[in-house]
Amino acid sequence: MTVEQQAPVRGARTRTSRAPSKPHGQWAVDGNEPLNANEEFKLADGGLNVRERIEQVYAKGGFASIDPTDLHGRFRWWGLYTQRKPGIDGGRTAQLEPHELEDEYFMLRVRIDGGQLTTEQLRVIGGISTEFARDSADLTDRQNVQLHWVQVEDVPEIWRRLEAVGLSTTEACGDVPRVILGSPVAGIAADEIIDPTPQIREIADRFIGDPTLANLPRKYKTAITGHPSQDVVHEINDCAFVAVEHPELGIGYDIWVGGALAAVPRLGERLGAFVVPERVGEVWHGVTQIFRDYGYRRLRNKARLKFLLADWGVEKFREVLENEYLGSPLPDGPAAPTPTTIGDHVGIHRQKDGRFYVGAAPLVGRVSGTTLTALADLAEVHGSRRIRTTPHQKLLVLDVPEDEVDGLVAGLDAIGLSSRPSLFRRGTIACTGIEYCKLAIVETKVNAAQAIEQLEERLGALEPEIGRPITLHVNGCPNSCARIQVADIGLKGQLVTIDGEQVPGYQVHLGGGLAGVGRDEAGLGRTVRGLKVPADGIADYAERVIRRYLADRADGE
Ligand code: SF4
Repeated sequence: MTVEQQAPVRGARTRTSRAPSKPHGQWAVDGNEPLNANEEFKLADGGLNVRERIEQVYAKGGFASIDPTDLHGRFRWWGLYTQRKPGIDGGRTAQLEPHELEDEYFMLRVRIDGGQLTTEQLRVIGGISTEFARDSADLTDRQNVQLHWVQVEDVPEIWRRLEAVGLSTTEACGDVPRVILGSPVAGIAADEIIDPTPQIREIADRFIGDPTLANLPRKYKTAITGHPSQDVVHEINDCAFVAVEHPELGIGYDIWVGGALAAVPRLGERLGAFVVPERVGEVWHGVTQIFRDYGYRRLRNKARLKFLLADWGVEKFREVLENEYLGSPLPDGPAAPTPTTIGDHVGIHRQKDGRFYVGAAPLVGRVSGTTLTALADLAEVHGSRRIRTTPHQKLLVLDVPEDEVDGLVAGLDAIGLSSRPSLFRRGTIACTGIEYCKLAIVETKVNAAQAIEQLEERLGALEPEIGRPITLHVNGCPNSCARIQVADIGLKGQLVTIDGEQVPGYQVHLGGGLAGVGRDEAGLGRTVRGLKVPADGIADYAERVIRRYLADRADGE
């Protein structure tokens, strides 16, 4: 009997025909004997259980009272990471132990499934930021809001305020199903194929915080869109659903699995199966259970779903999903057509109900609690009660009556949220970087913001000729939180040698992108060997690339 035919027996020791010489730590194959320190602490006590200790012990006893395993492990299950101690330069990141790099303050990630917020919720986040997080707030490229400078003493009160308005930090980090990316224009766009909100809500309500899915091999990312622009970067998620019309079965979703970037990037693959909206929750649950039961747990750097998919292949993956987890086959389905519009939703757009939504670009995702509160007030003044965050570090204000649009746009400009940004501001994103991230080697947001300003000055007049945003993604280390491999210009933070001296800089990746305007399918950028730029040289390099592109591009490129 093959693995594909067996009913899964959790913890049973069975063998596949391709069993590795060393166990991968697959629970359904090797048993669940922990093979590394992360697996040990997760099995000993689940990450979700730390909440009670935070509320009952650590918030009262302060930072010094926190058990190190909770601090460096389980806290993440509630969206909490220690942030980097100020003043430690990137050259020392690899030399110091993690605890030597960390501060007694936390980064707190607020989970916003589908990026859907009410103005009331936004105001609560803004208030928490100003009161407990030194007015810090970053919009992440996974539709979350990330706060900094949080002290453990304040966490229970922060949770109380968030949960009172239906928000949470549950499983915002950790080896769990992270926030579900959702089309920022779900339910409103005039050209929408299907509103994915019911599917996003079903997964979030049924499975987030479910202890049976709270110990996955590593993080697990989901994306769902019903918009033809495919606005959720689905190719780089572990499990994604993209709206498509089946010739006989109507509107549903094309399912993708196994995408992820980091040091070994891999684009997701279509299973070739069609999922009706009513089965999305069940199918997502099946894929997630495959990851839990068969995902590799021995080595952390091999623990994402992409490695299992690479070994199994799409055919076997679908077979296991259908036979072991769904109990019935999925129909074959078509691929969604390549998008013909840009999916960042920046600018002014008419909704299906005749009102408008306005998409605005903060500078590299950086805002503040004050700005978020001002945005909530401004939206309400102009008739809106709904805000969306996007996977491109942008914000949308929904449901704006036509005669309020101009006033809203002017108000957004006044608080630093441009709905008519330059192509450079629109296309640039940056990860957290050395200001707060313990893994960072290089500063990101400040350098990227300066580069935008310089590019606007130098190339602003050429924007009509350039025609579309040039994506410039800036990372502070070899991880890929800012998706460097799928940018026109991706910059990976590292120390670079210039004139014989090691300085903070970036390795260049060129020519990556997701399927969209001018690009039939996603492709990973090319690492240009030896091409490195110093941290203050982003604009110089981007200018050279853009001028050369304008001079050399083929007709229609
Ligand atoms: Fe930190 Fe590196 Fe991720 Fe940037 S890419 S946020 S520096 S881990």
